[in-house]
Amino acid sequence: MSKQLPETTNFLKQAERNVTLEGVMPLVKLERLSEVLSDNSGELFAKLQFTSGTGYLGLHGEVEASLELICQRCMQPMKHAVSGQFKFGLMTDEKYIDKVPFDADPYLLEGDEQSVVEILEDELLLSIPISATHQKACSEFLHKQDEERRVEKEKSNPFAVLKDLKID
Ligand SMILES: [Zn+2]
Repeated sequence: MSKQLPETTNFLKQAERNVTLEGVMPLVKLERLSEVLSDNSGELFAKLQFTSGTGYLGLHGEVEASLELICQRCMQPMKHAVSGQFKFGLMTDEKYIDKVPFDADPYLLEGDEQSVVEILEDELLLSIPISATHQKACSEFLHKQDEERRVEKEKSNPFAVLKDLKID
């Protein structure tokens, strides 16, 4: 079984120790994300690398998950694999903003612990396509729907009824 990621941790201490956290987290802990999913029973996988000694305190990482979204064409659930990468420059005070490299997002450390959930959730929300649709399975679903409509139409056709009567 994969290791569970903590919901919160002390980012500053982890960066000073150059800790790498790797593991899984149930999607049900991501409340904002859960709202856009048709099923939040899965889990995400993420790797968070806290670094120091590179001139700044960093948090680099990646997250991936298979999300169950609603297809915007057929309105049926669909599995969609998403992944994202992030790079933060951690600051104990806003005056250190100059130390944050240009390709990293500044992250102001407040309180004793910071939320791992929030960082991963933000990243996953960004990775969801605005209009998610099935690729192959969707056309199969629509085809089946067309077939059902055709059968319905035949049933409502009076001649079809006569034909049925004859057979009886
Ligand atoms: Zn579809």
